[in-house]
Amino acid sequence: MLIDVLRLKKSYTSGAIINDVLKGIEMKLDKGEIGVILGPSGSGKSTLMNIIGGIDRGDSGRVIVDGVEINNLNDEQLTDYRREQIGFVFQFYNLVPNLTVGENIEVVSNISKSPLNIDEVLTAVGMHDKKHRFPRELSGGEQQRVSIARAIVRNPKLLLCDEPTGALDYQTSRSILKLLQQVNKKYGTTILMITHNAAIAAMANRIFKLRSGEIVEAAVNQVTVPAERIEW
Ligand code: ADP
Ligand code: MG
Repeated sequence: MLIDVLRLKKSYTSGAIINDVLKGIEMKLDKGEIGVILGPSGSGKSTLMNIIGGIDRGDSGRVIVDGVEINNLNDEQLTDYRREQIGFVFQFYNLVPNLTVGENIEVVSNISKSPLNIDEVLTAVGMHDKKHRFPRELSGGEQQRVSIARAIVRNPKLLLCDEPTGALDYQTSRSILKLLQQVNKKYGTTILMITHNAAIAAMANRIFKLRSGEIVEAAVNQVTVPAERIEW
C-alpha cells in the first residue's frame, strides 16, 4: 500500500469561527494505482491532497505514505519528502514564465540526483521539440504537458494532480488524461487526481467521493477505461 490515511482531521480557525475541513478521512491507495477524488467545491479535496503531499499538515490522525508517518516528520524532513517523493500537477500549470521549457524542468531536476533526464521526460510527454520555447509560446495543453514532465523528472513515488484538466477543453483534457495513464504504466507512478468530472473516474482504480470533509463513498473499479475512450 502506498497511501494509508487514518482518521485524518483538519480545521481552519479564523477569529471565533472554526471550519472543520477534514472530519476523519480514511483512504487507501495501492502502489501503481490511479485514484480519483471527486467532490464539490469546498469539500476539502485540495486540503486532503496537500496534506498527503506534505504541503500542509493535518491536525490529528495518521497519514502513512510508503510506510512513513509523514505527520511525524519535522519541517526539514517534510520538505525533503515533498521534493524527493512527490510530483505535483496543478490546474494552472505554474511554469516559470521567463524560463524555457527545458529550464523549467532543470530547476526542479537537480540533475545529478534525478533518475530521469530532461530529454527523456520531454520526449515522454511529447514536448521535446519545444525544449527551447517559453511558456507563453505554448497552448494550455502543451504547458500542462511540460508541467507533467517537470513533475515526473525526479521519478516520484506519487504524482498528485489537482484538477489537471480544469482549464482545458474536451479534446485537450482527454489527451492529458491519456498522458497521465501512460506515465502510470511506463514508470509505475501511483497517481492521485482531483477532478470535478465524474466521467473521469472511469480511468481510476479507486474512486473517493468527498462531501463536506467526509469520504461518503469509496469504490474499487475492477475494469478501468482507457482515457481516450472516456466521454463526457
Ligand atoms: P476543494 O479543493 O474541495 O474545493 P479546499 O480543500 O480547497 O476544497 O477547501 C476546503 C475548505 O477549507 C474551504 O472552506 C476553504 O475555504 C478552506 N480552506 C482551505 N485552505 C485554507 C486556508 N489555507 N486557510 C483557511 N481556510 C482554508
Ligand atoms: Mg481544490
